[in-house]
Order: sequence, then structure tokens, then C-alpha cells
Amino acid sequence: MTLSATLSDLSILREPVKMASNCLFCKIAAGEIPSNRVYSDEELYAFRDINPAAPQHILLIPHKHIQSVAALEEDDGAMMGRLILRARKIAEQEGFAEDGFRCVLNTGVDGGQTVHHIHLHILAGRHLSWPPG
Ligand code: AMP
Ligand code: ZN
Repeated sequence: MTLSATLSDLSILREPVKMASNCLFCKIAAGEIPSNRVYSDEELYAFRDINPAAPQHILLIPHKHIQSVAALEEDDGAMMGRLILRARKIAEQEGFAEDGFRCVLNTGVDGGQTVHHIHLHILAGRHLSWPPG
């Protein structure tokens, strides 16, 4: 048996990651498109925003392709809880937990969402104004 056959046999034993074939963030999480990685595990992936809106601007995503908050299902609840907890840990590791930061989930057209794979913006490093534009 070849090594690749062994690995693909093993992968069907795990929970399959639903990846959309033409999604930028699915490809980033899979390592097919380069990114400046901040954190990675089997469920979540964090990387630096290519066009930062603050001195610190990190995007935190699930590997699973979910379009937006509007597409979340009941079964996604535990994962989204872990995602928020991971944002807290990233804030601590990156050193901005104490000064403060903002977590944003842009959703749909009016929410200003441009990439249709759910992503938590983690913004920090300057005083952020409110309300947003
Ligand atoms: P949103 O407008 O909420 O959908 O956010 C999408 C974010 O993805 C924007 O802040 C973009 O700057 C960011 N972005 C787009 N392409 C890339 C990329 N290749 N690497 C990192 N961030 C990206
Ligand atoms: Zn995706």
C-alpha cells in the first residue's frame, strides 16, 4: 500500500471537513493559498488580514465551509463557542487582551461581507470608534 493510499484511508475515519471548491478561505485554511498564519488546529485557522484595518487585524475561521452567521445551524453552536474562546486566547498571545480589541462578524450585503466563508475579524492596536461606518 502506498503512503498516499494509507493517508486517504485514514482521513475517512475523521469527521469530514466540508470544503467548498472555489472558496478563498477554504483554500487558505487548507494551505493551498499562502497566508500569514497565527493559529491552526483541526477545527480552526487564524491568519493576518491582507488589508489590515487596524495595527492588529486577524481573521479567525473554521475549516468547515459555512457561508455566514446567517447560514449557521444548531450543530455549529459548540464550534462557534470554541471560536470565540480561541479569539480570547489569540488576544492574550498577541498581547492585546488587556488594552482591548473588537470581534466582528460581517454578515451579508448590508453587513459588508465580501468573502462568503464565515470569519471573525479580531481588530486591535488602536482605539476603535463606534458606531462603525
Ligand atoms: P469581509 O469584508 O468581512 O468579508 O472580510 C474579508 C476580509 O478578508 C477583508 O478584510 C480582506 O482584507 C481579507 N482578505 C481578502 N483576501 C485575503 C487574503 N488572501 N489573505 C488575507 N486576508 C484577505
Ligand atoms: Zn470556504
